[in-house]
Amino acid sequence: MFSILATKSIPHLDMTATLLQHDCGLQVLALDCPDNENLCATAFLTIPSNSTGVQHIIEHCVCEGSLNYPVKSPFSELDRTSMATLLNAFTYNDHTVYPFASTNQADFFNLWNVYWDCVFHPTFKPETFHQEGWHLEWSNPKNFNSKLLENGIVLNEMKAEMDDLDAIVENEILKLLIPKSTLAHNSGGTPAQIVKLDYKKLLKYYKDNYSPTKARVLLYGNIPLQKKLDFIEKQLESMDINTPDIQKPRPTATTLNASAKPRRKTVKIVPEFNNRNSDAWAIAWLAVPRADQIQKLIAELIDSILFDNDGAPLKMAILESELADDLSAISGFNSDAPELVFTVATTGTNARNTRKLKKNLLDTLEQFVKNGPTQQQLEAALRQLQVEKLEINNQILYTLIDNVFDAWLRDENPIDALDSLKQLEQLQNILENNPEILQQFVKDHILDNPHCAEITFVADKTLARQRNEAEAFRLHNLKTTLSADQKKTIAQNQAKLQELQAKQDSQEALDTLPKLKRSDISPYPIPVNPINIAPQGQVPILSEAIPTNKINYLKIAFDMASFEQEDLEVITFFVMMLNHLGTKKLDYAQFDERLAACGAAIEADYAFNSPAVPQLKPTAILTFKLYSLDQTWQRTMDCLDDRLHNTIFTEHKRILDLLRQRWAKARQSLLADAHAYAKTRAATGLTKQTVANEIWVGLTHIAKARSLANPSKRELDNLIGKFERLFRTLSNATPLLVAHVGPESARDQLLERFLGVASQPKAFPGLRETDRFPQKRTEAFAISGQVGSIALAFKTPDFFSPHAAALATLAELLDTGPIWENIRIQGGAYGASCQYLPFSGLMICNSARDPSPSRSLGAVHSILKQKHNWTQRDLDGAVISQLKDAPMRPAARRDFILHANLAGLTYEIRTKYRQDLLNLTLDDLKAAEQTIEPSDANACIIGTKRQIQNIEASILQLKHL
Ligand SMILES: [Zn+2]
Repeated sequence: MFSILATKSIPHLDMTATLLQHDCGLQVLALDCPDNENLCATAFLTIPSNSTGVQHIIEHCVCEGSLNYPVKSPFSELDRTSMATLLNAFTYNDHTVYPFASTNQADFFNLWNVYWDCVFHPTFKPETFHQEGWHLEWSNPKNFNSKLLENGIVLNEMKAEMDDLDAIVENEILKLLIPKSTLAHNSGGTPAQIVKLDYKKLLKYYKDNYSPTKARVLLYGNIPLQKKLDFIEKQLESMDINTPDIQKPRPTATTLNASAKPRRKTVKIVPEFNNRNSDAWAIAWLAVPRADQIQKLIAELIDSILFDNDGAPLKMAILESELADDLSAISGFNSDAPELVFTVATTGTNARNTRKLKKNLLDTLEQFVKNGPTQQQLEAALRQLQVEKLEINNQILYTLIDNVFDAWLRDENPIDALDSLKQLEQLQNILENNPEILQQFVKDHILDNPHCAEITFVADKTLARQRNEAEAFRLHNLKTTLSADQKKTIAQNQAKLQELQAKQDSQEALDTLPKLKRSDISPYPIPVNPINIAPQGQVPILSEAIPTNKINYLKIAFDMASFEQEDLEVITFFVMMLNHLGTKKLDYAQFDERLAACGAAIEADYAFNSPAVPQLKPTAILTFKLYSLDQTWQRTMDCLDDRLHNTIFTEHKRILDLLRQRWAKARQSLLADAHAYAKTRAATGLTKQTVANEIWVGLTHIAKARSLANPSKRELDNLIGKFERLFRTLSNATPLLVAHVGPESARDQLLERFLGVASQPKAFPGLRETDRFPQKRTEAFAISGQVGSIALAFKTPDFFSPHAAALATLAELLDTGPIWENIRIQGGAYGASCQYLPFSGLMICNSARDPSPSRSLGAVHSILKQKHNWTQRDLDGAVISQLKDAPMRPAARRDFILHANLAGLTYEIRTKYRQDLLNLTLDDLKAAEQTIEPSDANACIIGTKRQIQNIEASILQLKHL
């Protein structure tokens, strides 16, 4: 039986929150609201006491087999056959969450049945632990003199994570600052510790921490609560729960060491490129050992004032000092633990300058304590917080999951944590009664706080080699200590794992899974109904009035058809300038501050728009998108006007700073997003768009960013000349289209501002240089990370061909079937995917965080060449999983309105495509398979020198791109 603990309505979220407890101890927080995207998330407190990643590996294993659904991976089966709009599992630093969501009620309960069984009755085979966690294997299982290797999905996932500089910096500084806390351990696991975990410890941890009596279940959406509670009751009845075991409060948090001396340390890091400033630096304070909601909100406000816009004092002080190329994303207060930690970290630093950096930081904080924020800064930060709390965006389910469990599992009231507007009101009251509270907070918790740690990260060119050698040495040593029996066991386990992975699920086992029928699905897509409010013949202004919590969303598009060929490679930089320079009246800091004070932000961007009807031509567009509180709408539109007509390119120092930051970000992203670069590169040359894309965001762009990081006077003048010319073209142009989502009252402003005669988009002039990227290329690019990626891309029939729906389905089948099985499950790569891009007519397959890229390359080639015997069940699942019907939140609707209208994508075309999918047969699929020519594919491999050395490829180097 459930009893109600608390209930409350939360108007700004349009919901009623009810907290309930079952007799057994299980708690439910039900959020009833009109949203048809229903969410269920089950969570457990899982506090780490080491970094073996047991929490993370359990999270992976739970999804890979359960009592009542004896298939190899119920999770993958759901992924490929359901309408789930969210289906995932997350390991946080002290808890683990299993969420799913769907807009279809039958689907929701199907998913819940399986997910409940996975979480509470997992099969947990030793092989699952080996596959998902880690295992030893022979490079040649028939030869025990061959190399001994470690492999496993989580192991490879975390190896890649440890290549990410931000993650390294965060980990090291927290370990030094609060060595005994939850935060000092990595619940994801560090590669060196993961290999110390064994199967028995995993089982024990699961038994100790996972039980319905300890579970917290978050429910959100419009399905009646009683129906959901009945479901839980029924599940609990069939379980054997004798003693209620209510979740104990978490252990006492870290304590502040008031007599602490600041701790200091030096740590070596691997530099990605031969760069002058490849060091990093971080300093952190344990501000509050156990923060309450209001303290966290104060911290958020201070963060926003110090860092959030280009005029923010701490951001400016660091970036203008030229002592560091970039401020790390981990800077500011953390929000994900009871311990409130304030960190400032920089990358692109020279170790010799850290003393100056520190002085710079402390001076800025002291200034803040002395003078406090200006009225405008405070207003801006409060408005930004307000927008954050009010916004209905695509992340709303994730935000709910974050906020609710953060509070709930720490024994705070989760309903209060949801009512963020009320907290904001409280904060405003506190600020009125004690205007100096922010200064006091910084003084007490940072400046006067001795519990502090500081690390200088020194780049060492030999470190990657040393690390690889040490790793090889360790495994070699391990091999010499193994007995003949142990060697045999490794080979046997390896064989057993491979055998299990290769085995297909039986039809009988698959039939245990509940599934939807095609007839359960609506044949119509989600309607989007903007009206054109502009007079006839004028630039269309498409506006849709839906509930947005009084926030306006706007996007305007300009045709880039009049830009010249040579401009292509500077467009990314030009757009960056439009986002970060000042105007005739305001310098860059003032401009951004004023915008922030409106609770608004403007972002310039660019995109290709491919037509959905044959009579239109592909266009390239430059866009400006913005959001703004309705109450400041007019002022925001003034800012947009200013940006569009008065941007100036005379702030030379600022331009140089931005160019350096661009290079710093680009080289860091190469390790973190290697697979994205591999995909862009492999696709390049297949269509005109893909050539532009490589120049805009690919490896070619990284090379350009490097060459512009320290330009000569002449190079800079030349670049600025180009920016000015592009800007003149832009500021004289009339937009192609304006898209708006928000209150109807905002429309008058739009009509006043966007006068102009409508024009038709022109074809993008295209690229004469397509032969710069010959076809059937295989290229390889060496990086210093521990894992790599591959991508393979080839032309296919496009949206206008009768095969489009079948090709999309084929990609879905490959993606969730053989590609996933072979690259992720058998190969151990964390990511594996196959994508069909109907509007470009391309298919792209890739791996990510991949321990053996050359193996994956061969595997993907042969998967694409094989003829697969898809079953009706495979096909039905793939069709259904493409029709997820995730709700389009306001910002997404605005983007959709703009792009669909430029592409001529009407409701009729969308309906036809949806019905093509719903009517798809196995014969259609076979016919589509005949059309693909994977042997013409381009390939790109990004990996370590060792990983790429045996691949027959042209080896790329940044300086030659
Ligand atoms: Zn993971």
